[in-house]
Amino acid sequence: MQKIAVIGTGYVGLVSGTCFAEIGNRIICCDVDEQKIEMLKRGVVPIYEPGLKELIEKNVAAQRLLFTSNVGEAIEAADIVYIAVGTPMSETGEADMKYVKAVAKKIGEHLNGYKIVVNKSTVPVGTGELVRQIIFNHRKYPAVHFDVVSNPEFLREGSAIADCMNMDRAIIGSTSEKAAKVIADLHAPFGTRIFTTDLESAEMIKYAANAFLATKISFINAIANICERVGADVTEVSAGMGLDSRIGSKFLQAGIGYGGSCFPKDTYALAHIADQSGYDFELLKAVIRTNDRQRLLVLDKLGHALGQLEGKRIAVLGLAFKPNTDDMRYAPSLTIVPELVRMGAAVRAFDPVAATAARSMLPEAVGYFDSVEETIEDCDACVILTEWAEIAGMDLTKVQKLMRAAVVVDGRNCFSQETMQQHGIAYHSIGRRPVG
Ligand code: NAD
Repeated sequence: MQKIAVIGTGYVGLVSGTCFAEIGNRIICCDVDEQKIEMLKRGVVPIYEPGLKELIEKNVAAQRLLFTSNVGEAIEAADIVYIAVGTPMSETGEADMKYVKAVAKKIGEHLNGYKIVVNKSTVPVGTGELVRQIIFNHRKYPAVHFDVVSNPEFLREGSAIADCMNMDRAIIGSTSEKAAKVIADLHAPFGTRIFTTDLESAEMIKYAANAFLATKISFINAIANICERVGADVTEVSAGMGLDSRIGSKFLQAGIGYGGSCFPKDTYALAHIADQSGYDFELLKAVIRTNDRQRLLVLDKLGHALGQLEGKRIAVLGLAFKPNTDDMRYAPSLTIVPELVRMGAAVRAFDPVAATAARSMLPEAVGYFDSVEETIEDCDACVILTEWAEIAGMDLTKVQKLMRAAVVVDGRNCFSQETMQQHGIAYHSIGRRPVG
């Protein structure tokens, strides 16, 4: 049993803190956002993540999981301090390190005994050393020692609990063998593979992994765009490609590209890290450009289907960057919906979970509805941006009946073209050969 403070109670800190509690540790999750902590103390979970509420309740009841906004006290009470604060994209594309630096200073000020400081946030190479220096410079008790470990997070929003409880590897980087062993032992109950390395390589592994996955997505999207031009079908192409075990079938689904709180910012950050190091990462920059362009494809397809969008009533189905999350950060909808409004379309939107978060981020003119049926009523077209189960499983007979014109532009290739044809729906998806 370890006493652990998790600093930053967002998607990563709250999930990993709860999972560390679940395997028997005593966790204090802390955050400077007092409102968030108050909600958690009242049993209200501030984010949408399937299964999280139940797991928090269980571990709070077992007195393994506490919440506080007193970050200093949490640090003092812990032997291991996890940093899980945000590292958002700054205006120049690099990771904004202000939250990590503030936390490092706080740890220094409250270092009342030997502690292992573990960085779980996604951070540029060299941050482990930077954190070490900041803690060292702000130490209240100069005789007290500490070690710094990098243990980047790989969970995916929407399946975060399962990803954490059944993690397929833990990356642990440190200059201290002793500290690395403690963190490796901490992960033993997860039954995961442990990969121990140096601090800098651990930090790079996280960026390299995300950049590689983003590359796969942009690659298949580029192939999809070519398929449309030459008469091939990207669904067939990716199925065939995925059979090659060197390639694998994951992250080969063509669509409107990646979004979310990680891939966009991490690809920009890595391109920036490369630039700073004197290497022009042209490949990654092309991945980013391809993704930016791919988002706009649904607008082209809508334009082709409807002509002018001015005065047209358009249903937007799905706003979150992917299903099973309320996270709107860098969601394709944030590019597409304002553009539809700018073009004069009347936008009606639906998202089963993210609509509340979306309201403050999308133009005021957008109307929000509680079901697919209400949203598509009398619409000239509908655009699918997120493949939520209720969207991918919508009743196509109703779609055909309720819409003014049964036109569906599907940015996620949710339906078979034959099925849409059978229902009399004009269906435009990504990278597929038209039927009939
Ligand atoms: P988030 O924005 O949801 O949460 C960060 C939390 O840190 C916020 O609640 C904020 O109030 C808190 N915070 C900021 N400054 C603080 C301080 N000085 N003291 C205490 N708390 C403070 O972010 P997130 O999505 O959980 O991401 C955290 C990190 O993990 C990022 O570096 C991200 O790139 C990385 N990551 C995220 C995911 C993901 O799917 N969200 C997956 C893997 C890695």
